[in-house]
Amino acid sequence: NVGLSGQFVALELIGRGSFGSVWKVERKTDGKWFVRKEVSYMKMNSKEISQVIAEFRILSELSHPNIVKYLHHEHISENKTVNLYMEYCDGGDLSKLIRTHRRSKEYISEEKIWSIFTQVLLALYRCHYGTDFKTSKEFESLNSANRRTARSPSWVDSTRVIIHRDIKPDNIFLMSNSNLVKLGDFGLAKMLDQENDFAKTYVGTPYYMSPEVLMDKPYSPLCDIWSLGCVMYELCALRPPFQATTHLQLQQKIQEGTFPPLPDVFSARLRSLINACITIDLNQRPSTHELLQESCFNVYIKEVN
Ligand code: ADP
Ligand code: MG
Repeated sequence: NVGLSGQFVALELIGRGSFGSVWKVERKTDGKWFVRKEVSYMKMNSKEISQVIAEFRILSELSHPNIVKYLHHEHISENKTVNLYMEYCDGGDLSKLIRTHRRSKEYISEEKIWSIFTQVLLALYRCHYGTDFKTSKEFESLNSANRRTARSPSWVDSTRVIIHRDIKPDNIFLMSNSNLVKLGDFGLAKMLDQENDFAKTYVGTPYYMSPEVLMDKPYSPLCDIWSLGCVMYELCALRPPFQATTHLQLQQKIQEGTFPPLPDVFSARLRSLINACITIDLNQRPSTHELLQESCFNVYIKEVN
């Protein structure tokens, strides 16, 4: 593993994470661009270090067109740093898209919103069920045993379930020369079977955090659905569903679960699916599996594959 970093040239600092910097780098052999996330574990406690290791493990297991591709990592012991190399997404993130539209006072097209909704759902399906979503056509070609699990996938007792836990506009990336959308930043992600250390690691304003996570209650992959609902809401309304001037006020609003109606320039179908995601009652909140059964996603699933 000697000199992995020697194979890349740093081009530009593109972000600062809580434990290090994110660089755009160029691979010398072919000039291709990648992202190098430099994580310094100098100031981390053992829990935080194990979270970083978990992120690597999770990322290396996930291979999906709608998830930022992880390449490899290297350990630089003299700097107490781990470098994580991954795919570079050159189209910016959703927070930038929202900002641009808010400035120009122009709604994002419904087409584009459906396309983004579908692709993030496909990424989350892969995380939540440990397998790829099957379209009805793919379903037809499965044998009966595989059909049974595809029809009613279960996340109970599965050691492969991954909860992202930080679905927000800044963690969803775009590509400039295609409609591809990719989910990234698995820094807070966890496997379902690990203990809950969420409260200690979360920093930032929890606009997109589900009420059960806010309340430190046990949670399931459905917390990602709530957050996705909030992101889709913001793509439509160009403002998040819950806004407040203080942390406490925000928390209260999320726990009440009421928010202004979505602009009626968007279809009733889209509005009702987004509203369903932002439902406090976990029995009413749809899973990725249930959502993707909706026929309105079909055309966009075909577009991706
Ligand atoms: P953190 O949220 O912990 O700071 P992120 O992984 O979200 O770490 O990276 C920080 C910033 O770096 C992002 O907001 C984004 O601007 C940029 N970035 C991260 N990953 C990528 C990527 N794969 N492609 C392009 N830009 C990225
Ligand atoms: Mg981030």
